[in-house]
Amino acid sequence: MSKEFLLTAAWLFPAWDTEPLREGALLIQGTQIVEIGPAGELKSKYPFVPTEDLGQALIFPGLVNAHTHASMTIFRGLADDLPLMTWLQEYIFPVESHLKAEWVYWGAKLAVAEMLRSGVTCFCDMYLFEPWVIRVVEETGVRAALGEGLFDFPSPGYGPLEAGLALTEDLLKGYEKHPRINIIVCPHAVYTCSPETLKKVWEIAERHDALVHIHLSETKEEVKQCLERYGRRPVAHLRELGLLNENLHVAHAVELTEEEIELLAERKVSVAHCPESNLKLGSGVARVPEMVAAGVRVTLGTDGPASNNDLDLLSEMRTAALIQKGLRRDPTVLPAQEVFRMATEEGAKALGFPRCGRLEPGFEADLAVLDLLRPDLTPIHDPLSLLVYSARAGAVSGVMVAGRWLLREGQILTFDEAETRERVLAVAREIQDLVKSRS
Ligand SMILES: [Zn+2]
Repeated sequence: MSKEFLLTAAWLFPAWDTEPLREGALLIQGTQIVEIGPAGELKSKYPFVPTEDLGQALIFPGLVNAHTHASMTIFRGLADDLPLMTWLQEYIFPVESHLKAEWVYWGAKLAVAEMLRSGVTCFCDMYLFEPWVIRVVEETGVRAALGEGLFDFPSPGYGPLEAGLALTEDLLKGYEKHPRINIIVCPHAVYTCSPETLKKVWEIAERHDALVHIHLSETKEEVKQCLERYGRRPVAHLRELGLLNENLHVAHAVELTEEEIELLAERKVSVAHCPESNLKLGSGVARVPEMVAAGVRVTLGTDGPASNNDLDLLSEMRTAALIQKGLRRDPTVLPAQEVFRMATEEGAKALGFPRCGRLEPGFEADLAVLDLLRPDLTPIHDPLSLLVYSARAGAVSGVMVAGRWLLREGQILTFDEAETRERVLAVAREIQDLVKSRS
């Protein structure tokens, strides 16, 4: 019989569309939630089941970071205040050409530490040397959808494209049954992947019924280049190639017309909205209220920590809500409930984890704990308001994934956080030497 216990706290917020419970409890068995209810009730119903009481804390569904490049923690603060294409082509791509497995591994491990501390239990990652990010996910116990970034030019990770396609296929086969890892297929963007590359990539995805993740319509420049090269905008370009369907998860979608929003909704494409990255790179603000109204599945992501510059999904929720209100001079637009839905249930569904993102019977025990004994989280009129408008990374004292504590009472239990930080500092020194030798 798998381990069974009751988890209780002063507050429990089970899902975006439910009422919070005062003195709530979860009955957890193995990796799953079996029952939920008032603590007193469950305790008398299961007197022999051990109880773990979290005290003045709020239990909430673990957040889902639906678009990132976790290992890019190593580039945090390396080049700021630049437009996307300049940032990528003059700074990130040249340094990335020297990328190695060790950098990716330690960068991703630091990212997991950072994400856990903002209540993230699941993330979507596209990068290079992805097997090393997968290894981090296996070792740390977090949940993720991951894929090797694919593009026309040779990669420091796998060499020629054909090798990248073979690697993707190997990963799809190797992790087919892993409970916490979903391998996805990741063509980088329409400006780095030719139509031929995109078609090859989609064939692999179809063969394995895998999700495809791509950056799409992020900037005006991308749309302009796509029009010049192919005579159509990025969304139409994917439609023409036969690639718009419910297995597609796109990042950004800032530059969309009304018709494109309708099309994404109709084809059941999901979108990872990354407001802070879009703001920082001056890309603009995605039309999230219109997408939500049209029925597009909108999720929330931080994007890589070198264009954000953090992996704090709590602050990302706040930014997502605030920019729409400010931009439209309307405080009722994109309420806290909608943003929390994006950061939990919608993200989980988009990444192929339909049994995550809510705390209810039959769902995975993926949850986070907010420490309520803090001045910035007092008083508690409305837990949802605290989560979206007041909480920030660092206020999360516990994180559980599949019934296992990864962060508890502020301590990471599954890996050495201090060592990880030291290793990343050493990587950063190597990067600094590289930058100096180039200038
Ligand atoms: Zn990205």
